[in-house]
Amino acid sequence: MNTEDLKNRLPHITILVDELLKNYTFTKTGGPADVLAFPKNQEEVKALVDYCKENGIDWLVLGNASNLIVRDGGIRGVVIMLTEMKQIQVEGEQLLVESGAKLIDTTYVALEEGLTGFEFACGIPGSVGGAVYMNAGAYEGEIKDVFDYTEVLLEDGTIKTYTASDMAFAYRHSKIQMIHGVILRTAFKLKKGQPEVIKAKMDELTKLRESKQPLEYPSCGSVFKRPDGYYTGALIQKAGLQGLQWGGAQISTKHAGFIVNIDSATATDYVELIAHIQQVIKEKFSVILDTEVRIIGEEVH
Ligand SMILES: Cc1cc2nc3c(=O)[nH]c(=O)nc-3n(C[C@H](O)[C@H](O)[C@H](O)COP(=O)(O)OP(=O)(O)OC[C@H]3O[C@@H](n4cnc5c(N)ncnc54)[C@H](O)[C@@H]3O)c2cc1C
Repeated sequence: MNTEDLKNRLPHITILVDELLKNYTFTKTGGPADVLAFPKNQEEVKALVDYCKENGIDWLVLGNASNLIVRDGGIRGVVIMLTEMKQIQVEGEQLLVESGAKLIDTTYVALEEGLTGFEFACGIPGSVGGAVYMNAGAYEGEIKDVFDYTEVLLEDGTIKTYTASDMAFAYRHSKIQMIHGVILRTAFKLKKGQPEVIKAKMDELTKLRESKQPLEYPSCGSVFKRPDGYYTGALIQKAGLQGLQWGGAQISTKHAGFIVNIDSATATDYVELIAHIQQVIKEKFSVILDTEVRIIGEEVH
């Protein structure tokens, strides 16, 4: 890719070349992106996508990189990171939020406005775009419960609005996983509540999360989806795998559903440990563990 041409054509966008993604991912692992771009508004996102299309360059979008393992060979093409697009507007009982806003910040705006419904998300460290893409959820709540509509830039340059009935929301799934698009902005519908009740709920869930999850180490949250009829952490414990270290990665001793980076782990350590867990659980219990975390990028050549 001619990165000088890209920089000259889009001079207002911050563009980093050969930037290590381990500086951004929550696991603190991952190789370089050929180009990492930080658009500030939807016009700049569109300009990047148009440029890639014209020049036959692959692109993908990242939110807060909290549900990702980027392999150590990194990502070819353009990685669009939306952390500069983080406006949160309040319109009555609706929040209109740009994709790069942190979900946690959004839940605190809801609290300040005395709006209830978003308490479940107060500890999920993703961006709003990533949370909609994943239908993120916790403690009996999911994005689909507060979702009104989202605006998505499609590869042909058009912006399409998806309402709840278009989104095919399911457990950690949304329609956007089936298309190549960029979620730009999402509207959430909440209800008037009492700030002290909302705050008490958020405090309770935060305490619960802190007591159960190894938040003191880098991780990508729950590595696997919950298989029907089982709890992943319990299966991994029962298989005798909890605490297993693979390179610098370890199956958390606090929560066996998490893999923590305890000693300069590489993405390869993560990917191999994940495969090992899947194999052991299949052999011992005939249960297939699908990953919730998304594994992207190239192996090291
Ligand atoms: C400590 C910890 C705790 C966690 N707890 C929870 C939890 O309780 N519940 C839960 O559901 N998750 C949890 N997670 C996982 C993660 O925070 C969520 O999945 C979150 O929604 C991912 O958002 P993100 O912005 O980080 O997405 P990323 O990791 O950046 O990306 C995830 C996927 O979404 C796509 N994507 C991101 N933004 C966009 C966009 N704007 N348009 C199109 N595609 C996009 C990416 O291409 C990628 O495929 C946890 C993670 C950690 C590290």
